[in-house]
Amino acid sequence: MKRIKGDIAQHVEALYPILYLVTFEEQQADELISSLAEGRKIYEWNMSGGRVDFKTKLPECDYCDLATAIDVLLKDELDNHFIVIKDAHLALGETPQGGSPSVAIARLKALASKIVEDSNTRATVFLVSSQAVVPRELEKYISLFELPLPDEAHIKELIGEFTENYGLKPNAKVVDALAMAFRGLSRQEIGFLLNRSYQKDGAIDMDDICLILAAKEQTIKKSGILEMVHVKEKLDDIGGLETLKDWLGQKAKVLKNLTDAQAFGVEAPKGVMIVGMPGCGKSLTAKAAAALFELPLLRLDVGSLMGKYVGESEGNMRRALRLADAVSPCVLWIDELEKAFVGISGGGSGSEVASRLFGFFLTWMQEKTGAVFVLATANDISALPPELMRKGRFDEIFYVNFPTEEERAMIFKVHLKKRGKLSDAVDPKQLAEKTDGFSGADIESVVKEAIEQAYVDAKAPIDTARLGKVIENTHCLKEVMKDKVAEYALKFSNMKIKSASKP
Ligand code: ATP
Repeated sequence: MKRIKGDIAQHVEALYPILYLVTFEEQQADELISSLAEGRKIYEWNMSGGRVDFKTKLPECDYCDLATAIDVLLKDELDNHFIVIKDAHLALGETPQGGSPSVAIARLKALASKIVEDSNTRATVFLVSSQAVVPRELEKYISLFELPLPDEAHIKELIGEFTENYGLKPNAKVVDALAMAFRGLSRQEIGFLLNRSYQKDGAIDMDDICLILAAKEQTIKKSGILEMVHVKEKLDDIGGLETLKDWLGQKAKVLKNLTDAQAFGVEAPKGVMIVGMPGCGKSLTAKAAAALFELPLLRLDVGSLMGKYVGESEGNMRRALRLADAVSPCVLWIDELEKAFVGISGGGSGSEVASRLFGFFLTWMQEKTGAVFVLATANDISALPPELMRKGRFDEIFYVNFPTEEERAMIFKVHLKKRGKLSDAVDPKQLAEKTDGFSGADIESVVKEAIEQAYVDAKAPIDTARLGKVIENTHCLKEVMKDKVAEYALKFSNMKIKSASKP
């Protein structure tokens, strides 16, 4: 925070006209602006109150919209002023009807150019919002700053202040564990949770971790773009894909001892991309990997990232990656990655959004220092930009094909064992021979169907013959999606991506 505050102070001194502060909490922005004010007069406009007193938030005059408020300022003499505009994404983004608040944008532009060109006007405009929505007309006047969520040291200070106020003395181990659990939450949320924990039993201790994790999950859910996935899957639940499993095992050793490994010269793992046929274990691997690494799994829903307003998609992507950074160490599972970059080379406004998203994602991947392990999954690699597939972006790219005969036998075993039905009456080898072209998902559905039929059939035993019958009546995915599968297979073999299965 110190570094960013210094950076913002320099921009104020150099008279940059508009500083856009992206923050999850307005109070943080208010404190920052107050600390930089040094006697300057502060005007505030917000969506609910119009022109308000910066300190008390009480209205200073009858409600006026942003355009009117800026018009008044344009006629004023501005010398050493801070102009704070809250809810900037609402005031400057597209209206729900699809129009844009063009008068407010035009007047803000006039104000910015007055600050830049008129040496008698000394003012800084602060736009404050939880999302960055930058109207194109204002782009060259705006400098964007993302105010960070509290880091571990800051969180420990907050815990210290709270416990001191209540005369509590939690031991260092508890403070460390709480600080870790609080990562990714705002100061206000941390304050509320400390209060709730204390009200519950008059103590701040290890028992409060569950409360914190539940609240954190809520915050992540509320973001609408990230979801915390609870995993039960283990590496043993994956039949086959041995090369990929070995690779993940190696990364687990590094991730679990990251500081030690880095001191030895090992680079922090960036992540892995798993591409390939549907139903063949990509999502399963994402879940098992998080469990193996003993890290929380955050799933990024690429579809919900794509907003309909200008800048919304980038804003969402930025928010999601920032949240993942704050929650780190974690595994960030980007499911159906290709959807984010659809139409990147197609031209038109869609491709512009896709290109910007892509650029932002690449930079983040390149610069990320937080312990976020990215696990991206995709079916249609032809939609992915070639730059993404280049070595170095991800630590490795794996191709998951339809399981081999040996793998199919292992997948039968996994699913029968999971349901307590693996016995000498079943010969996985025979079943594997009969299921050429079946995906893991097909095999799972054969097992489920056979068990259901056996139940209806007076709880008959599950044996090779019963499973064989179900297989005969199953149309596997490879058959159903013949054309698509052939198209993917050709693309994958052309790209010479490493196979997830042992040769
Ligand atoms: P999609 O591209 O359609 O999302 P996917 O490759 O992510 O497919 P999964 O969701 O991982 O496929 O697989 C679907 C189900 O099939 C899994 O829940 C799992 O039960 C089973 N399955 C797939 N592959 C395997 C495997 N190799 N071993 C065990 N089970 C598997």
